Amino acid sequence: MRLDDWKQSRNIEDRRGSSRGGGSFGGGGRKIGLGTVVIALAAWYFLGVNPLTILGGGDILSSVTGGSATSSSGYSTSGTTGQEMTDAEGVFISKVLKTTETVWERIYAQNGWGQYPQPKLVLYTGATRSACGVGQAQMGPFYCPADEKIYIDLSFFRDTGRRLGVNGDFAQGYVIAHEVGHHVQQRLGLLDQYQRAKQANPRQANQISVVSELQADCFAGLWAYELVKAGNVIESGDIEEAMEAAEAVGDDRIQKSQQGYAVPDSFTHGSSAQRVAWFTRGMKSGNIHQCDPSRS
Ligand SMILES: [Zn+2]
Repeated sequence: MRLDDWKQSRNIEDRRGSSRGGGSFGGGGRKIGLGTVVIALAAWYFLGVNPLTILGGGDILSSVTGGSATSSSGYSTSGTTGQEMTDAEGVFISKVLKTTETVWERIYAQNGWGQYPQPKLVLYTGATRSACGVGQAQMGPFYCPADEKIYIDLSFFRDTGRRLGVNGDFAQGYVIAHEVGHHVQQRLGLLDQYQRAKQANPRQANQISVVSELQADCFAGLWAYELVKAGNVIESGDIEEAMEAAEAVGDDRIQKSQQGYAVPDSFTHGSSAQRVAWFTRGMKSGNIHQCDPSRS
């Protein structure tokens, strides 16, 4: 990706390097409740990476079960917003976020939806608090609809993501564009619709989740479409990187690597083939109205 000509976004909230702030973890006792529920909800929005499969079952959930809204207050909750990043990784993320803002401003304008409401993107290290519970590095990037922020610990791109097959700058861009896609779903009222549908049809919750995730992939494809059209951003190999990343985070691929086989009914994000197909659909059509996986 060539981003030299791009300015940085004003929407990065940098919480890296801030410590837990001295609060004692567990001060609220072992309450099960809000924290557990919200973290489970947040899990719907994770990019392809299901923490349960990565960690072999429940590590994230159990570690968060001990923490309630009270105890999680020990985590950093604030950082500086709107400043220019100076480190290479920060600059990259900030510029990629800027590309998504430009693309979605255009799509909003084309559709007469008014001003695109830009999300904030929180960079953190280790763990941080979100309105959806405590974000932890192992979870991978996620979007929290309750505070409308994207959370990324950059170690994901260095460790887990790389192990899975998310390699290269455009692949990382796809990951961010996917999370931005969830924000667009949120602002268009789609996440609410999916949530209501899950409550009405609990047995189909996984399928509904897959629809939501594939749509976010298609939205990421719309981002790629605009950058291809711009002509001076995409470098050779970029599109392949994104395709490989979409394939790498398919549920079947992750399950097979974790347990040796895939269980389609348990998919929450879609198979590798589906994820590649929907990203491609967005990228080829450039048309948001093509991004409705519930109709196919
Ligand atoms: Zn997602």
